[in-house]
Amino acid sequence: MEVKANEFSNGDIVVTYDPCKCTLSGICAKELSEVFSDSIIPWVNLDNTDTDRIVEQIERCPSGALKYFLKQKDVA
Ligand code: SF4
Repeated sequence: MEVKANEFSNGDIVVTYDPCKCTLSGICAKELSEVFSDSIIPWVNLDNTDTDRIVEQIERCPSGALKYFLKQKDVA
């Protein structure tokens, strides 16, 4: 599977980042520094926080640069 440079995922969610839209407000790194960093590459680390909290933070991004979609769970 192709992995895109500005796409990040864990078992539950895929997060995308569009640098052309980002206004560098710093809100994501300030409010959820366990996941979003303004100094470490890769700057999105989804392993440190639960998915609900990540979604809540993405919805606070004022520019729409951060987006997410939930992965489909296999139904047995
Ligand atoms: S909250 Fe959104 S606009 Fe602000 S730095 Fe993060 S990605 Fe960029």
